[in-house]
Amino acid sequence: MTLPLNDPTLLRTQCLIDGAWVGDPEVAVTNPADGERIAAVPNLGAEETRQAIEAADRALADWRSRTASERSAILHNWYEAILAAADDLALILTSEQGKPLAEARGEIVYAASFIQWFAEEGKRVHGEVIPSPRRDARIIVIQQPVGVTAAITPWNFPAAMITRKVGPALAAGCTMVLKPAMETPLTALALAALAERAGVPKGVFNVVTGAAADIGGEMTANPTVRKISFTGSTEVGRLLMRQSADTVKKLSLELGGNAPFIIFDDADIDAAVEGAMQSKYRNSGQTCVCVNRIYVQRAIAGQFLEKLVAAASALRVGRGTDEGVTQGPLIDEPAVAKVESHIADALAKGAKLALGGKRHALGGTYFEPTVLTDCKADMLVAHDETFGPVASIFLFDDEQEAIHLANASEFGLAGYFYSRDLSRVWRVAEALECGMVGVNTGLISTEVAPFGGIKQSGLGREGSSHGIADYLELKYLCLAGL
Ligand code: ADP
Repeated sequence: MTLPLNDPTLLRTQCLIDGAWVGDPEVAVTNPADGERIAAVPNLGAEETRQAIEAADRALADWRSRTASERSAILHNWYEAILAAADDLALILTSEQGKPLAEARGEIVYAASFIQWFAEEGKRVHGEVIPSPRRDARIIVIQQPVGVTAAITPWNFPAAMITRKVGPALAAGCTMVLKPAMETPLTALALAALAERAGVPKGVFNVVTGAAADIGGEMTANPTVRKISFTGSTEVGRLLMRQSADTVKKLSLELGGNAPFIIFDDADIDAAVEGAMQSKYRNSGQTCVCVNRIYVQRAIAGQFLEKLVAAASALRVGRGTDEGVTQGPLIDEPAVAKVESHIADALAKGAKLALGGKRHALGGTYFEPTVLTDCKADMLVAHDETFGPVASIFLFDDEQEAIHLANASEFGLAGYFYSRDLSRVWRVAEALECGMVGVNTGLISTEVAPFGGIKQSGLGREGSSHGIADYLELKYLCLAGL
């Protein structure tokens, strides 16, 4: 299948190592909307990853010695290039990932915003002068780039998960080797092509596609790599952490979530329904900050449910490129199998179906927007991320119970709640064990705020002024004998 791109040269089927496009297209990339092959990408392994790391190491001295403004100018060029190519990038993204075209375009703009943000933040990497306890000495702290970094990214946000790593890395003066998900490598390669055109020097940003375990093994074992940034499952995050132990790498991990969404009886119910819809069904439920557990206070449960079911019934399932579609296919068969197993488990343990519950009539990996009621703490939907279009509704009686239920998870990425009582808003916001809390909103992602989790949802923050700190080392200079 040929994609109708304005600029067909954005569809890359080779990897970028040391400024050269290399490798033979071997592994097919398919469209989850129909299973059709879009293109193929190289199946690289440890050896090519090592070459990419060496290239990133060679490129480091020049890149880190440039001024922040010089790096910023190149990143701004890249930002403009991404926006100028937004339509093509969105089409590539939808074709390999499945999300509706409007959502894909939104992701491209969001992805570009990280490049712009960090192009600016790079210029504000200040040092510190600390009052000295000695008369003859001065204490100064400078910040320096970590060095060669590696990134491993998932398929659910094929563009934004890349730019929020490579943006701060390059702005800080680091170089990078990226391994995108094999479900969605084409968006990554298109971004790399635009980086090259924008003036990112050879070796500063390298992209390798291929065998995850081999590439990840080399990235973690190679002592030249000083930092790894990973977004993906908690299981793989744990593995990368273990593998990085021998070379004591810095790690940023953005792992699984199990977001609670609490609606108190003083909430604006219409607003809560709107927030739940945005947070639950965006990307067909395949985001790590998607609501997984909806807790409704008993007195308003009937009203909330009725409105939620009405809103979810109005969603349109279909091909991401078709006009008016709001729900694309799930990424693959295992994703559908997981959703089905969660629903079957819940129903077997007493939950009831208020909407959907099965594969969509369109076939393939399309799934009906689903609402489950009467959910309980012993069900899979309570402790495992469903990662699909299933809204699981639990009841609670009072605030303490809601907080207890919400925090009963090994994860702590995002949490949401709706209330109009100011005291409660503060109490609950402080009590939730999450890295991010949406109060009276279901949408929290922005490049200006620190994104990240606590507990087993990960380490570090992405976006905001904190996002660049993960790519910097502090160095303390003691100037004595003055
Ligand atoms: P998801 O459920 O989002 O697919 P994964 O953690 O499996 O989560 O995948 C996220 C990224 O991690 C992908 O780029 C994938 O290829 C990569 N990955 C999977 N297994 C490994 C591994 N053993 N070492 C390094 N990377 C891996």
